[in-house]
Amino acid sequence: MENKILGLHHITAIANLAKRNLDFYTHTLGVRLVKKTVNFDDPGTYHFYFGDEIGTPGTILTFFPWEGIGTGRNGTGMATHIGYSVPKGSLTFWKNRLEAQQIAVEEGEIFGEQLISFTDPDGLQLQFIESNQEDNRKPWLTNEIQSNTALRGFHNVTLTLQQAEQTAKVLTDILGYDFQDQAGNRSRFATKAIETANLIDIIEDPSAKRGHNAAGTNHHIAFRVKDEETLMAYREKVLSAGLQITPKIDRDYFFSLYFREPGGVLFEIATDNPGFTRDEALAELGSNLKLPKQYEGIRSDIEKSLPTLS
Ligand code: ZN
Repeated sequence: MENKILGLHHITAIANLAKRNLDFYTHTLGVRLVKKTVNFDDPGTYHFYFGDEIGTPGTILTFFPWEGIGTGRNGTGMATHIGYSVPKGSLTFWKNRLEAQQIAVEEGEIFGEQLISFTDPDGLQLQFIESNQEDNRKPWLTNEIQSNTALRGFHNVTLTLQQAEQTAKVLTDILGYDFQDQAGNRSRFATKAIETANLIDIIEDPSAKRGHNAAGTNHHIAFRVKDEETLMAYREKVLSAGLQITPKIDRDYFFSLYFREPGGVLFEIATDNPGFTRDEALAELGSNLKLPKQYEGIRSDIEKSLPTLS
């Protein structure tokens, strides 16, 4: 089990205004800012990581808030819906809380599980789902969001594709997922290697428009592995399936590989180690601007160029 893909590691999306993004996720949704750093390829842009107390893989949603970027379009070739697991009986609380902020909320059901759908301030499509599986993950709590309502972490992520078949093969033949269920044009894949954040849905829609990656859309999804040895074993697997994949990249808080699956979605594989406490104490996570070492020498320039968060 241990050398398998352990469900989702993180999901990375694009936002516009940094402060609006930070306030929505930490205040309205009550997840913890576990790391405040910059885009390693574009240090004038923040990179926010939101998750549980320690940023456990499977709870981490990250954003590049590119101020002034236009609004993207959710469409084929991308992850289009992020599903969070919430406790049974909490959907009314969330519906009321979101509607009090003039956010439109739709109620629904997928594979027998009750959910609400809404968008964040940039248009990113979120679903809060009352899972039928028990979810014992310990949530981050705030004054307004207590354990009977707090987000547990990811339930699933939905990819929208023109053709499902080749992507489904990557999930089953390379990443160790099994086909689990189908309803209409939605197929669900699950890995047995872990009990949470273990679901990928595919919506096949040949007539849908291709997505455009800008604010309010997902940039990539990352799958979780235990360590670098497992990571590199997956690199070989992806290569031998005839797909291109990057070398190992050090992201400071994990090691990563990236490859684009045949349906167009950017996939990453990321390690558990070293984690978010490598450069900040647990109690202080997210409270300091952390920079990768190549940018420490220009810290004051970077701090001046970043948008204000207060
Ligand atoms: Zn990533």
